[in-house]
Formats: sequence, structure tokens, C-alpha cells
Amino acid sequence: MKAMQSIYDFTLTQLEEMLGELGQKPYRAKQIYAWLYRKRAESFEEMTDLPAGLITQLSERYVIMPVTLVDKQVARDGTAKYLFEMQDGMTVETVLMHFSFGKSVCVSSQVGCNMGCTFCASGLLKKQRDLTAGEMTAQIMYIQKELDAEGSRVDNIVIMGTGEPFDNYDNVLDFCRTVNSDHGLAIGARHITISTCGIVPKINAFAKERFQYNLAISLHAPNDELRRKLMPVDRAYPLDQLMQALREYSTDNHRRITFEYILLKGVNDSDHDAVELADLIRGMNAYVNLIPYNEVDENEYRTTDDRTALHFYDVLMKHGVKATLRTKHGEDIDAACGQLRARHERAGKA
Ligand code: SAH
Repeated sequence: MKAMQSIYDFTLTQLEEMLGELGQKPYRAKQIYAWLYRKRAESFEEMTDLPAGLITQLSERYVIMPVTLVDKQVARDGTAKYLFEMQDGMTVETVLMHFSFGKSVCVSSQVGCNMGCTFCASGLLKKQRDLTAGEMTAQIMYIQKELDAEGSRVDNIVIMGTGEPFDNYDNVLDFCRTVNSDHGLAIGARHITISTCGIVPKINAFAKERFQYNLAISLHAPNDELRRKLMPVDRAYPLDQLMQALREYSTDNHRRITFEYILLKGVNDSDHDAVELADLIRGMNAYVNLIPYNEVDENEYRTTDDRTALHFYDVLMKHGVKATLRTKHGEDIDAACGQLRARHERAGKA
């Protein structure tokens, strides 16, 4: 099958322009949006209030759903991991998590990743390509259609799957615009979180746009010496530059920042690390999300035990830093970023 562009690629504004080029009225864009995102249409033929000529034009040029499901694992706690295949045969992972505050979907933004974080399974496969906005939207729509059957909805989106969202900035923000649009799924901007390893120029660009999406930063170390060992991006954008950009973002946008900090046994989980971390972010409108490490076979890093994790949390609190200690999800499946896909790739090559 020849790959056809997905209609999910278009933000509402882009759809209006595209319709203009087809000689159609721009107001049709909102109708199409309602069909796609409210009525969850699976074919253009269903869009019965569009002129027949427009339905033909759309069907000849676009598909709706650009992904198919190739694997799904469901953990005992209900966490579900999906492996999707795109039209070029490449695969991406998406995770659905059930929290007390609602259902969250963790979306991938690239096939593979070039950031090279030493603890992460995603980076085992170098970036093959960026995902289009529509391929990210499709991850949400596929799961939303499943949830429709039980009368529930995707409440939150975190762009924390495989890939570095700020290395695919334009597509990621188009995706955010689409799922955020009042004419579509209308997922509130404050229910959408973009997580970056710290690409400073893109943080600056994001800050200038005054977006209301949440920003999360993968920090994982309180000083450059350690951070460099874990995250090569620190060499390009050391902590003083990163923190300066974040202070400006936070002040200009009046937004709270989330710092993600994976606890790695004997690596970044000492009292000294906690105090240094507190010193680094004290005074900022921020909090630290302490994340238990999902162990992967390919490296030596181990999870910090619960007692040490709680102690680390206490030290942060005592030093005036707000923190949360996250519990694990999907432990009995390949829930760590990139694990499911990496396993499939290996199986495919074997
Ligand atoms: N590139 C982006 C988003 C993808 S990673 C970023 O760096 O933020 C999403 C989060 O999962 C990051 O905080 C990342 O460091 C973390 N992560 C990666 N591998 C992990 C693992 N095995 N266990 C727990 N968290 C992991």
C-alpha cells in the first residue's frame, strides 16, 4: 500500500488552508474536526453533511488512521502498553495509565531517540525519524476509541514516550494544538505535559509562545559532572544555562515547572545529592517528581530501594523543596520507555 498522509496531521488552521486549496469553504474544517474528534469517524464516507465532491477529494488524498496495532500488553494494575505500526512499517509505543485523577496516555514523539541517556531503553535504537503530528494524534485517537466502549476518556496526555519532543518541536506543538482544540477532543492545555531532557534554545522558544501546556524537565542529577554521565545533552546545555532558561520561562509564564528525577541506586540517591538538588532549585516555582527506575536488561542501573527513596524525599522537603514520590506502574510488562519496541526489534532481527 502506498503511504497516504493522515488527515490527523492538520491543525484546524492548517485544515482551513488545505480546504481553501481544494476550492472548498474554510468552515468545512470545523465540521470535519467534529467528525474526526467528536464522532470519531473512521472513514470520510461517514461525514454525511459534507458535499459528496469533498468526500471524494478527501478520500483520494488522505487516510484517517495512519497506525495499526501490532501488540498490546496489559499489566495487573491495568496499565496498557500499545505497539503501533505506521504506514512505513516503523513502530512506536504508547502507554495508557489509570490514575485516581483520570486516564493518562504517554505518547511517543520519535521513532528511536538520539539523546543517548545512558539509563534509557529508548536510546538503544537511534532516531529513525520524527513522528508527524498525525501519528501522535493517532496514538490518542486509537486509545480514545477503545475507551469509548467503556464510556471513559483520555484525561491527560504526557509526551514522555520514546523520543525527545523538543527535537521534533513543530510537529509536537501541532499535535498539542489538535488535541487541545475546542472543536476536537478539547483536552485542556494544563492536562498536556511536554517532557524534555533540556534543549535550551527550544525551551526559550516555548517560553516566548506563552503556551499553557505543562513543562517537565528530566533532570536526574544535581550537578554537571554526574548529569553528563547520565545525559549527554548536558554537554551541549549545562545546568547553568538550563536553569537560567527555566527561571525565565517560569517568571514570564507564571507556570510551575516539574523536575523529573529518576532514583538510581548508588548513583544519584545520596543525602548529598538531595541537598545539592534542593540548592539547585530552591526559590523556583517548581517541584520534583521522584520516579522509581524501571530496570532494563541492557544496563547496570538499579532501582533505589523504598526506604532510601523516602529518605531522599524527606531531605528535599526539609530543605524547602516540594516533591512527590511516584509509585510504579505496569511493573509486570515492558513498561520502561522503549522496552516493548526494543524487544520486538530484537525478535525481528533474530
Ligand atoms: N526525551 C524526553 C521525554 C521522553 S523520556 C525527556 O527526556 O524528558 C520520559 C521520562 O522517562 C524521562 O524523564 C526519562 O528520563 C524517563 N525514563 C527513561 N527511561 C526510564 C526508565 N527505565 N525508568 C524510569 N524512567 C525512565
